[in-house]
Amino acid sequence: MTRRVLLLAHPAGHSLSPAMHEAAFAALGIDASYRAVDVPPEGLERAVAELRDPEVAGANVTVPHKRAVIPWLDGLTEAARRVGAVNTIVPTEAGLIGDNTDAHGFLRGLAELGVDPSGQRCVVLGAGGAARAVAVALLGAGAQVALSNRTEARARELAADLEGIGQVAVLAPGALEQAVRGAHLLVQATSAGMQGVAEGVSPLPPGVVPDDGAVVDLVYRPAETPLLAAARRAGRRTQNGLPMLVHQGALAFERWFGRPAPVEVMRRAALEALSAD
Ligand code: NAP
Repeated sequence: MTRRVLLLAHPAGHSLSPAMHEAAFAALGIDASYRAVDVPPEGLERAVAELRDPEVAGANVTVPHKRAVIPWLDGLTEAARRVGAVNTIVPTEAGLIGDNTDAHGFLRGLAELGVDPSGQRCVVLGAGGAARAVAVALLGAGAQVALSNRTEARARELAADLEGIGQVAVLAPGALEQAVRGAHLLVQATSAGMQGVAEGVSPLPPGVVPDDGAVVDLVYRPAETPLLAAARRAGRRTQNGLPMLVHQGALAFERWFGRPAPVEVMRRAALEALSAD
């Protein structure tokens, strides 16, 4: 039986996940396909019900369904509960379980950069889904987390929401520059710099980068945002969003198939798909 893995999205185009997972199936000789499906919000309940077909090995969930999917599932992992969102669905004997591999994927990416966030001063820019996953990951790893967002009220809401997990400081605009300069790690988790959304835009004034810390920008289209370029020119360790993307996919693969993912095959496929864009 050919197994199927689906990505529930809206719109469905432009994801790197089909290329990454199809390459993994081919490399390991797994008889399966990975397809992105356009699911409008009113079709979500039905799309989830269809995942109960025995041919379905699992699913990914992305914008705008990561939170909305929760009521249609039979259970959540601790990771999904902490992040408050689902990016991976695993069919089990107990039904469809919602998981979240973004936070763990982010930490695996950090490890590639040689950064151990435990006890480190980390500044996270943003207050959306990505910033939330990163903040949860960093708190879980024992980091000190400070948050800054264009709309400060959203940063305060997120910090309040994460109180049960750990203490998150919210930076007022006037305190941001000094906090960034003194950070061991800066994570850019806004859409600033993203192709087609805010390309060329930096969320920080020119030249403001950590004096000595590393910089991760979750954007991967383009491969280098203005912020990441400034950090690289200043001699900082930098990483774009591709390692997090590859590792969240690899972890999802491991949940569905119960075996190690071919991470380098998946990374190469994602890079090829990006360069063909
Ligand atoms: P989201 O929930 O829509 O949140 C968007 C965030 O970006 C908000 O904090 C928003 O601030 C901020 N923002 C938008 N435009 C901005 C601008 N021009 N200047 C400053 N801030 C701006 O989106 P998300 O899902 O968190 O995604 C955020 C970014 O992370 C995207 O670029 C996405 O591609 C990337 N991402 C990467 C991965 C990965 O695996 N590498 C995974 C998830 C997301 P306001 O609150 O003020 O609107």
